[in-house]
Amino acid sequence: MAEHESLEFGKADFVLLDNVSMEEFMSNLKLRFEKGRIYSYIGEVVVSVNPYRAMNIYGRDTIEQYKGRELYERPPHLFAIADAAYKAMKRRNKDTCIVISGESGAGKTEASKYIMQYIAAITNPNQRAEVERVKNMLLKSNCVLEAFGNAKTNRNDNSSRFGKYMDINFDFKGDPIGGHINNYLLEKSRVIFQQPGERSFHSYYQVSVCVSVADAMKVIGFTGDEIQTVYKILATILHLGNLTFGVDGDVTLIENTKLVSVIRELLSTKEENVEKALLYRTVATGRDVIEKQHTTQEASYGRDALAKAMYERLFCWIVGRINDIIEVKNYDARVHGKNTVIGVLDIYGFEIFQNNSFEQFCINYCNEKLQQLFIQLVLKQEQEEYQREGIPWKHIDYFNNQIIVDLVEQQHKGIFSVLDEACMNVGKVTDEVFLQGLNGKLAKHAHYTSRKCVCGRAHTCIYLPLSLRRYSVVGFIDKNKDTLFQDFKRLLYNSSNPVLKGMWPEGKLSITEVTKRPLTAATLFKNSMISLVENLACKEPYYVRCIKPNDVKSPLLFEQERCRHQVEYLGLLENVRVRRAGFAYRQTYPRFLQRYKMISEFTWPNHDLPSDKDAVKRLLQGCGFDHDVAYGKTKVFIRTPRTLFSLEEQRVEMV
Ligand code: ADP
Ligand code: MG
Repeated sequence: MAEHESLEFGKADFVLLDNVSMEEFMSNLKLRFEKGRIYSYIGEVVVSVNPYRAMNIYGRDTIEQYKGRELYERPPHLFAIADAAYKAMKRRNKDTCIVISGESGAGKTEASKYIMQYIAAITNPNQRAEVERVKNMLLKSNCVLEAFGNAKTNRNDNSSRFGKYMDINFDFKGDPIGGHINNYLLEKSRVIFQQPGERSFHSYYQVSVCVSVADAMKVIGFTGDEIQTVYKILATILHLGNLTFGVDGDVTLIENTKLVSVIRELLSTKEENVEKALLYRTVATGRDVIEKQHTTQEASYGRDALAKAMYERLFCWIVGRINDIIEVKNYDARVHGKNTVIGVLDIYGFEIFQNNSFEQFCINYCNEKLQQLFIQLVLKQEQEEYQREGIPWKHIDYFNNQIIVDLVEQQHKGIFSVLDEACMNVGKVTDEVFLQGLNGKLAKHAHYTSRKCVCGRAHTCIYLPLSLRRYSVVGFIDKNKDTLFQDFKRLLYNSSNPVLKGMWPEGKLSITEVTKRPLTAATLFKNSMISLVENLACKEPYYVRCIKPNDVKSPLLFEQERCRHQVEYLGLLENVRVRRAGFAYRQTYPRFLQRYKMISEFTWPNHDLPSDKDAVKRLLQGCGFDHDVAYGKTKVFIRTPRTLFSLEEQRVEMV
């Protein structure tokens, strides 16, 4: 609790509100935004409102003010949470993570960058050259990733079109020694189609206007050949976009054949191979292998799939190369002690559009998973511990969205399973079939309904917590199958450019050797989300909840309704309630005594009371803190951090 902050800026911690109501929450949030206080707390959760203007609160002097301090000693700030995560890791040898959530344009990526900068600034006091190098790589790699994974959208001029989880590894001294990046679901369709007012990935514009990306790539260790290949792939994708198909009798042909030569050159393949891969598909029927000609429609589909797949593969390859470069090297845990980790998750928040499709479905499913993790860790665990300890506890009602998560991901019955099943059908594989499958399996589910929409197209409607979102099933099948004809994979694998060839190892297989279907997009995404959540769940989590104040990027406007909606679906009010009912600190009686027994004459050096619990009671009564604590079966619970702080001070005086 930052008591030094004057109340004219509102309450720095929402836990201190007089009444926990939506009205009070919103007026405090608004007041703080208007007074330029963009950060607040809910206990240890940072609530951030995008200021849409440069704030003078990230400089060296501010960093110094937060370094090594306790959370409640200074006004709320990202630096405080970064410091808390860092301290927990260093002092207690614990892996920690910082989960940043919020909708597009709410300020997640900026927050993740400030957190990285802070960590870079407070580490390596001895200026070790190797650590400096690693820090530099970690910061530079970000710039390359943004060039290839970000784009201008109507919501955000620098919108991340992929989810990112970055681990930073630290040695026993607490200095960064490497890192690892996981990327999730790149919006690859952007290379072939953009909404009005939006653009393709920055890479397209940056490559043509300036060389800074190439420079950054060079600095972090991409070779000249690699950078050249990146350019060639970008150029190929552009040319593919201009390629058109026509018919002559019953022959499908390419209308602008000159482009084929250009593409051939860029890809270092044979010209006739490019043409063939675009116009024919090799299929195995029993023991025969035949070449089946595409219709113009199939050829166009194949062309677009190729462009998307090449970009996605390029992006994943770049991430892989960055990982090679930043991964921890020469670290022997037996010599140097445990290597610990801080993870930073910057992932797309809930997306609600006029017309929601497969992509939004995946993104929102991801957010439900993260919300479930939050519920489990923060809400459920708290409540369960109080119950276990026999501490009087007013049950907090919250919506447990596990049912929504199950609806999507459950084996056999979940929406993803039904979708995969529909995709496996031989013959008739349409979005209609998928919809029938859903209706068959889920008609009775409390959170599922489907209905035809006014536009006449088939839609499924799925109720998610707090707001109704509607997804059109149109395109689900195609996007889930995400077919890239084998012929393209073989084409790219057979390139004489080793960098390109290396990106397409599965092209090695001939048609008769390809036995397994590639995993569907939904299954891949589901698996990556499950492992992400497992990974986060074993770390000590810190949360940053980002709020977007308006849709016009204005520093002055606080759109009440817009913000209230975000506060609702982020579950912030429930978070305050639990926190208020809760206790900031807890410790088992013996350990508590071990640390504080010197404060009281009744416990120092030993006590003669019937139990450690009685001794702790006596100690705290003596200090006048009895009103601020609760005594559980095995642990003492302290409500406010202030009390703990004061105990620490007294302890220091005595030691
Ligand atoms: P998200 O990653 O949540 O989609 P960004 O982090 O890219 O959103 O933020 C969108 C834009 O908002 C940024 O490009 C920047 O202009 C502005 N912004 C976000 N956070 C801040 C901040 N702390 N200070 C100043 N401007 C910010
Ligand atoms: Mg972003």
